[in-house]
Amino acid sequence: MGKLKICIEGFRFKGILVILLVFLLISAILLVELSGIHANRYERSLELMPQDKIVTKEEAASSLEMDTLLLHNSEDQSSAIAYEQFDVILEDMKVGHIALDMAKENLPSFEGFSCVIVLLSDLTPLGQNVADLCDFVYGGGSAWFPLVLESNVYFSAISQIIGIDDISQDYYTVNSIYPHEDFMIGGGRAFAVSDPFESSLTVVLSDDAKVYANAEDPYGVPLVWKKEYGSGVFVVDNIGMYDKAMRGFYAASYSLLSDVCIYPVINASTFYLDDFPSQIPSGNSEYIQRDYHTTIRDFYINIWWPDMMNFADKYGLKYTGLAIESYDDHVDGTADATPDTGTFLNFGNMLLRKGGELGYHGYNHQPLVLSNKDYKGHYDYKTWQNEKAMKLAFDVLIDFCDSLFPDTEFTLYVPPSNLLSDEGREFLIREYPHIKTISGIYFDDVADAELDFGCTQEFSVDKNGVVDQPRVVYGFIMDDFLTMASVSELNLHFVNSHFTHPDDALDSERGAELGWSEMKRRFDGYLSWLYNSAPGLRNLTGTEASAAVQRFAAVSPRMEYSENEINITIDNFFDEAQFIVRFNKKLPDTVEGGKLTHITGGLYLLSANENIINIKLK
Ligand SMILES: [Zn+2]
Repeated sequence: MGKLKICIEGFRFKGILVILLVFLLISAILLVELSGIHANRYERSLELMPQDKIVTKEEAASSLEMDTLLLHNSEDQSSAIAYEQFDVILEDMKVGHIALDMAKENLPSFEGFSCVIVLLSDLTPLGQNVADLCDFVYGGGSAWFPLVLESNVYFSAISQIIGIDDISQDYYTVNSIYPHEDFMIGGGRAFAVSDPFESSLTVVLSDDAKVYANAEDPYGVPLVWKKEYGSGVFVVDNIGMYDKAMRGFYAASYSLLSDVCIYPVINASTFYLDDFPSQIPSGNSEYIQRDYHTTIRDFYINIWWPDMMNFADKYGLKYTGLAIESYDDHVDGTADATPDTGTFLNFGNMLLRKGGELGYHGYNHQPLVLSNKDYKGHYDYKTWQNEKAMKLAFDVLIDFCDSLFPDTEFTLYVPPSNLLSDEGREFLIREYPHIKTISGIYFDDVADAELDFGCTQEFSVDKNGVVDQPRVVYGFIMDDFLTMASVSELNLHFVNSHFTHPDDALDSERGAELGWSEMKRRFDGYLSWLYNSAPGLRNLTGTEASAAVQRFAAVSPRMEYSENEINITIDNFFDEAQFIVRFNKKLPDTVEGGKLTHITGGLYLLSANENIINIKLK
């Protein structure tokens, strides 16, 4: 009996020991998690370039061969509107061109050019030179009419030659654009136009015109076509919409003009989580309560975040979170927030461990704007008392981030509400030289246009190495405009740049009424389309994407084409560069100096790892 008792007691003792050990192990794991030891263990897949290797887009453009003539007309309304976009499209595609304003200058001879871009809707300024243009193409040149042409005598003179058999009096309202599958990345489906109007000519084409995009479906009114003429080609766009969200359609059309077309791209898919980590709002929210009967806090921790992590696993997404310490409205430099550090650590470390990145959003959500600017009633923000106050508050955020994530490098800034004054930008770059990316937004919204300090950007790099990296699409409900923008940017920059907020699921304006599970379903549909359409698209963090923008800005490819091969020399090559190549005649066989990934039709992604590329053709 006594022996048995000792045995049982021994067993009990061992049991307690095991429990104690397990408990200690859990504590150790938690400690490691919270301390952020793992936080920096992911190497960047692409590093920022050294300062002395930075080449801006303007500098890269100056070394291009000027073999394209761009004709525009500052007195032709469509031409003037389109010119704003085409200036960027051609600069980003590294198309060396001479721009000529027909309202001010005389037309030069087409001799010496290989391509003429006729960015005119009214051909009258060309006059009799329309015939010379046809001769130029017949002799092997290429000409592109990107704008919907006005029906007049000069148009009539050329319409049959560019493939138009018949034209009706009435303009056509394009409700959606159907790019053929082999024409555009992400094509083979219709993209709804958000504000349709009578934009296009109702044309019937001759049989020898090859159509690349139609209105509504593959049989609708032709919107993009190519017509061979003699030894050259005409490319015609009949879309009639020239805003920033349409750039990629014109990039794709441009790439039809030559036997092989190559242009540099960024090749990045980024997902920003604005206001994350941040204080979780307390209490309940209407739609969360309705669908999940739980608090906002529990929804964030137990539903939203696990779902976001599942997206990361399923598609390989790397999140870039933008930390904000407080939602107070102090603008005098006092910063007395007492954030819930446990939440910051948990969310921050989980994000970092998934290969993500953390950047700055602000001590609070008050944009870096001083009293020389006025919000004109568009926003409920204050302006900062002075620069010293901005600095005091921003230093508090930096100390907070450093103390929680000591091994993590913070190099990226996203302005609250995408508002940033010139003074605020200058202040940031001067005071915090470790900030190398300012990430605003691609599309102006109405209020920002009125305020003159909306942080609307192009993908570009300053001479000081700081990258402007706009975010393009957002939220979980990709409406018609955003869907059009996303296909457009895939084709111009080979980019997906998306941001969302944890509180999107609470906000009826951002789709909350549909419920989180429907928002999630739609987002999944977008991601599935994106990654199926764009093989080779790289999932990058914000800073990795900036490194890609630096390389994109610097490089310019030169190509020599012969019957069986092409040789590409890349100027300002650093260590790697990304290009889209369209093969219009012969397809590629083997490649040296890089890797080709087939996307669709004759479109390939070229990842160059040397500055000289040789492609043998089939
Ligand atoms: Zn924010």
